[in-house]
Amino acid sequence: MTQATASKPRHVPLRTCIGCNSEKPKMELIRIVRTPEGNLAVDGPKGKLKGRGAYVCPQVECMEKVIKRKALPHTFKQAFPPEQLEVVKQQFVERLLTPSI
Ligand SMILES: [Zn+2]
Repeated sequence: MTQATASKPRHVPLRTCIGCNSEKPKMELIRIVRTPEGNLAVDGPKGKLKGRGAYVCPQVECMEKVIKRKALPHTFKQAFPPEQLEVVKQQFVERLLTPSI
């Protein structure tokens, strides 16, 4: 016998923003990926990029905290040159302006 069980799971996956350390539903956060080549990239809304991910609130303030606190080198246990952090910050801002990227 199959019974119609709850169609929507109640459990929402949470992730912690590496800028402000608050927990939010994964869907509401922007994913930053360290690719297998060791580069940083801001993932699209579908989360297609391969690699280790870190999550940041969709706010410039949080991204600035991420840079200031060196949260990315800390999270990925790898040093990144300042230019690379600047590029990922720009990608992040573009992503905020155009959520469909
Ligand atoms: Zn945040």
